[in-house]
Amino acid sequence: MKEQLKNALVFPRTLFRELIELQTCPHAGHFAERDQVCWACDQEILCQWLYRNDECAPVELRALEQIVESLESAMAIVGAHVDAGDHGRRVCPCDLCFWLRDTENLLADAYTALCRERNERPNVPSLSRAP
Ligand SMILES: [Zn+2]
Repeated sequence: MKEQLKNALVFPRTLFRELIELQTCPHAGHFAERDQVCWACDQEILCQWLYRNDECAPVELRALEQIVESLESAMAIVGAHVDAGDHGRRVCPCDLCFWLRDTENLLADAYTALCRERNERPNVPSLSRAP
């Protein structure tokens, strides 16, 4: 499951790198957490996503939940991009729409896996123990 989710991160990573306008960026596309300029930039969403999800962040060490969150935010960004153009998301053959449909299915499986993970957790505080 994790491997599939990890692979799904490759597309938005490549796409966002292409979308970022480097000419106007003082940090060559590297999000600088301490620079006010970055927080006020209209490319902040893309840069921040890349900053948090680059290849150096070892996916193996991240919880399934975090990877799911990364994919959800990537879907929101790609979705907004697609909605600004003339795509019919459900039928459009372009890479973006294909990725959106694919990832949506993948996430549905991931939610199931997450629920299972939660239910199997041994130390779930029980409501019956309330005073
Ligand atoms: Zn499309």
